[in-house]
Amino acid sequence: MDNLAVDPEHDEVDPEDDDDVHDPEDDDDVHVIVFPPELLQEIEEQNRRCLMVMLLNPKVQKMVPMTSALLKAWRLTGSVECRVVVDDSKALFQFESESDLLWVLDQEPWSFNDWMLVVDRFDRRDEPDYLRFMNFWVEIVGIPWNYRNDAVIKRIGSVVGEVLEIHEQGPGVRARIRVDVNEGLEFERRVLFERSDEDVEVRFVYEKLKMFCQTCGSLAHHKARCPDE
Ligand SMILES: [Zn+2]
Repeated sequence: MDNLAVDPEHDEVDPEDDDDVHDPEDDDDVHVIVFPPELLQEIEEQNRRCLMVMLLNPKVQKMVPMTSALLKAWRLTGSVECRVVVDDSKALFQFESESDLLWVLDQEPWSFNDWMLVVDRFDRRDEPDYLRFMNFWVEIVGIPWNYRNDAVIKRIGSVVGEVLEIHEQGPGVRARIRVDVNEGLEFERRVLFERSDEDVEVRFVYEKLKMFCQTCGSLAHHKARCPDE
């Protein structure tokens, strides 16, 4: 006989035996709270004017001083407030005007207590890349002037992230680059231009960059705590 055969008789649950089963019908005072659609609409509208801010190194960055420091740094006191502290690493800020919210995004990257912060629109919360990127201005140093054009700058800048905008000022090249905060930062790359005899070193200088791991380039821990050490 097959020992694993299931006897359907034994599988049946006797409701009398199961004290854990809760039948809502037995409960006289179970009520569902239903909010009117206008209220839900109002909350959705408020959510569209919210930015989520995430600490990248919450071991060092503390939430309460961060919220007041950010409000001060934004110089928008009165038209923006910290609506909810979500957990030890995230807080939601609500703006009165969309233009203030866009200004904060435009001025990225932000930092607190010497470590970087990620800022994202709360209405992007269902996107797979939510709270994963920050935009840096990166100076790209060392591209030979005779090979410099947008395609070359974009290709070299892609080592750092997606190149969104390029500014050329005299001999310098600056690019607005969307950087994945889960990847280690890149600081240099050797580049070979086909007609050159030898490769050249190109360096990336991140504007407004604060602390990072000098071993792996992570924005989330100090070298002393690096798993690669
Ligand atoms: Zn590291």
